[in-house]
Amino acid sequence: MNEADAARILERLILEYGLPSSPRSFLQFENPFQILVLTILSAQTTDKQVNSIRDDLFSRYPTPAELARADKSDLEEIIRSCGYFHAKAKYLIESARALVERFEGRVPRDMGSLVSLPGVGRKTANIVLNHAFGIDEGIAVDTHVRRLARRLGLTDESDPDRIEQDLVRIFPRSDWGKINYLLIMHGRQTCTAKKPMCRSCPLTGLCRYYREEFELDKGEG
Ligand code: SF4
Repeated sequence: MNEADAARILERLILEYGLPSSPRSFLQFENPFQILVLTILSAQTTDKQVNSIRDDLFSRYPTPAELARADKSDLEEIIRSCGYFHAKAKYLIESARALVERFEGRVPRDMGSLVSLPGVGRKTANIVLNHAFGIDEGIAVDTHVRRLARRLGLTDESDPDRIEQDLVRIFPRSDWGKINYLLIMHGRQTCTAKKPMCRSCPLTGLCRYYREEFELDKGEG
């Protein structure tokens, strides 16, 4: 896909969903520590599920220092409903310890430091940088962004880091912060995983999947 078509996709998605006035997360957070923890927890589960345990979690462990000292089985009980709770509890405690030991108890504001934390990859780091600090270092590629980027023809890659490389090449940096939000909105409301609702989609003329599915049908008919 060329840059002009990518820009058209963005324009149509902004018309459809609008843009939040400030970087907007689907996770409910109040500070960088909370968005870091909630994003680690959000792997393989829904934001709604993660939001549902946030009050319990942060009333018990309001700071990295408290989370660093957490009893692992107590923490597992609180986060159990988010799935993969053994691994997630381990990552959370180890990351909190790293924040205390290496970053004076603060969430770092750069990609290299963030991805050095246990359980933190580029997706989580991009979300923290964008939502907590307003820094556009890259584009967070979650399950919606991955699926839509492939369907639309913005990438042929499967690996999230490679998809991100394709996206940052085709969209100007000033738009990076919007991509994740807009593709998630579209992935939730129209281009859903099981059955994309192409007939009501504003991107049909720009979408590879649509071309391949429906124009092939037309040709065969
Ligand atoms: S045309 Fe269909 S596959 Fe393409 S973005 Fe729209 S809903 Fe998704």
